[in-house]
Amino acid sequence: MPDRVKITIIGAGVVGCAIAWRLSKKFEDIVIVEKNPRIPGENQSSRNSGVVHAGIYYPQEQSPLKARVCVHGNRLLYEFCEEHGVPCRKTGKLIVATNEKDLDYLDDTMRIARENGVPGLRFISGDEAKAMEPNVVCVRAGYFPTSGIVEATQFLHKLYSLATQQGALFLPGRNVVHLEAEHGYFDIVAQASGNTEPFESEIVINCAGVYSDEIARMINPDSPYEVLPIRGEAAKFYKTRRPEIDHAGLNVYPVPQIIWPDGLKADLSFIEFQRLYKEKKVLKTVGVHLTPTFDLIDGNYEIGKTVTVGPATKGGISKEDLSSGSYPLEHFHREVHSFFPGLRLEDLEYHQAGIQAKLKGHVDYIIEPDPKHPRFIQLIGIDSPGLTSSLAIARIVEELVIAIN
Ligand SMILES: Cc1cc2nc3c(=O)[nH]c(=O)nc-3n(C[C@H](O)[C@H](O)[C@H](O)COP(=O)(O)OP(=O)(O)OC[C@H]3O[C@@H](n4cnc5c(N)ncnc54)[C@H](O)[C@@H]3O)c2cc1C
Repeated sequence: MPDRVKITIIGAGVVGCAIAWRLSKKFEDIVIVEKNPRIPGENQSSRNSGVVHAGIYYPQEQSPLKARVCVHGNRLLYEFCEEHGVPCRKTGKLIVATNEKDLDYLDDTMRIARENGVPGLRFISGDEAKAMEPNVVCVRAGYFPTSGIVEATQFLHKLYSLATQQGALFLPGRNVVHLEAEHGYFDIVAQASGNTEPFESEIVINCAGVYSDEIARMINPDSPYEVLPIRGEAAKFYKTRRPEIDHAGLNVYPVPQIIWPDGLKADLSFIEFQRLYKEKKVLKTVGVHLTPTFDLIDGNYEIGKTVTVGPATKGGISKEDLSSGSYPLEHFHREVHSFFPGLRLEDLEYHQAGIQAKLKGHVDYIIEPDPKHPRFIQLIGIDSPGLTSSLAIARIVEELVIAIN
């Protein structure tokens, strides 16, 4: 462990790794401190749906930054994966309306996507949707050709190894427990298997995921942000079991679903939703959806037989509670039955759970220098679509670092 470094990144999830990759092209003397004993470890970045989002959920009025980094990040991610051989596929996506009420939510989603500059989107009929994904039933759908999937841990690992080759030093197994601003430097204390390792850094970048609010308060006790851990639990099925559940490989989503801050579903008319969303009393989520998945087949990542169904969201949990099973499999079955009716309950089994860093009372990302310490850059509440947006987020942080350097 060096005594003094130029840049410290706290957290080696996909955002910390993307920033490390980007900054290590220009700067020397970068360390990434990660509390997990290995990279990739247990965090949002290794327990997500792996969807490359197109940028359709984030209204300009409420979340302009998310909209921008998602659409930009989508393009950068495909280019990166192509260049570096990371498993990734532009599968396209359907958002399906199955009844009258859904149509309002679908119209709203298309409006938001157009305003965000999502390329290639169009409305399609139920028959056209069926031609693309034969077991899907809907009255109308939105089609988004730039949506896809990526093998998230391979992506993260590629960023990590490229950053390492460029000279960035990853320090896994170190938990940052204390931060202090001292004569132009930040004193950082990391704990590693019972030992404390103090060092100094000129610039610090907080990429600590669900703990980003606590890191922010360590350096600035007045930091107002609070991260709500919201667990997403997923199930899966094997599409090769029966023709009725064969899946051509598109992402298939219901219209956006509305949840209360505790993660429970809110069944609201579109008008009620608009009012409560403006008042920040409800959150919008992507809803339980079908996602094709990369399977490791004969040593290669290919879109195989596994289709994931999720996430079902659960709030009011601890930041470490990765347990699964708070929803019975019946829940997943019920949520997708209206648009994927061939699926039977017995086709489903549990898959995985991951915890998102949702920001209480905010729907957009916080990416800014700390108001008290301009050389401490805060990234707080980087929930979905953080995987998709990671390379665009890294560019914003690079500009901030250049400005303060
Ligand atoms: C169930 C689920 C589904 C999702 N689906 C998608 C999707 O389909 N598409 C998409 O784009 N996004 C998706 N996301 C969101 C995406 O995964 C996250 O936005 C992204 O991974 C955030 O990356 P991160 O690096 O900010 O955080 P993380 O991956 O959580 O990494 C933060 C790191 O900081 C470390 N850390 C924390 N505290 C300390 C400390 N004190 N000292 C040292 N290290 C510390 C942690 O150990 C962790 O490794 C999903 C998330 C979940 C949970």
